Amino acid sequence: MVDAADMVDPCGEDHDSPVSGLVHRYPDRVLLLALDSCAAYCRYCTRSRLVSQGEMYPVTRRLDAIIAYLEEHTEVRDVLISGGDPLLMADEPLDKLLGRLRAIPHIEFVRIGSRVPCFLPYRITPELVAVLRKHRVWLSLHFCHVRELTPEVAQACDLLADGGIPLGSQTVLLKNVNDCEQTLKQLFHNLLKLRVRPYYLYQCDPVVGTSHLRTSVQTGIDLISKLRGHTTGYAVPTYVIDAPGGGGKVPIQADTLLAYSNGTAKLRNWQGEMYTYVDPVM
Ligand SMILES: *Cc1c(COP(=O)(O)O)cnc(C)c1O
Repeated sequence: MVDAADMVDPCGEDHDSPVSGLVHRYPDRVLLLALDSCAAYCRYCTRSRLVSQGEMYPVTRRLDAIIAYLEEHTEVRDVLISGGDPLLMADEPLDKLLGRLRAIPHIEFVRIGSRVPCFLPYRITPELVAVLRKHRVWLSLHFCHVRELTPEVAQACDLLADGGIPLGSQTVLLKNVNDCEQTLKQLFHNLLKLRVRPYYLYQCDPVVGTSHLRTSVQTGIDLISKLRGHTTGYAVPTYVIDAPGGGGKVPIQADTLLAYSNGTAKLRNWQGEMYTYVDPVM
């Protein structure tokens, strides 16, 4: 079913693409689309217009233009490699891609967004970990439910964490899948046990044909309110809406700053109690 609000490119990425396979939206960081296949396909994928549509050239054919753009744009210090799933690349081309990025002096932070440790944990080999470590890569994993944390997935996360790869996780809020306090808590607590830090909880993007998977924003706000303060801060991701049309990620939470005027902040804590903070009088 196609809902009135559904969009083919909900985050407006195609508008912010200066060269094929690169999205440059924020001042200091870019999203590099490495390839167009994944180990399995998510119904709610925000990039379903590209993934497995056969229209994206392999990264090797686009890479020269991407590298030239990045060399020229000295304001870019952070490259997020996503896709498709970059960890479906073989070790050698991945090593080469990372090496070319690392050779650009102003690029100081490189991360890979991947669902491979979840969908294809056997891909996480000591050789792959060595490539990631060599290039000081951070990994953003993607998990939506505690049932995805199988023994094989745990082993893959252990291999990565033992190899010194910092691990974060992104979760998409999905109706009747994980829109429940207990489910999210179990997922985030078990990720911490695997040394994976929950990073973002995404409101589901209005991708064509996914309205049945989307909750209201209020549901997301209520769920985050039940976590923040009630459990380990590390277990609470930032709840964001990737603003339709290309506005970027907007963090959402229930109001905690109820009023702020004349140097006085009226605060609401995690239990709903009111407190006041007064600025220094200079
Ligand atoms: C999410 C995203 C990033 C990275 O944002 P962070 O908040 O730094 O994780 C960069 N570019 C685009 C287009 C993105 O969607």
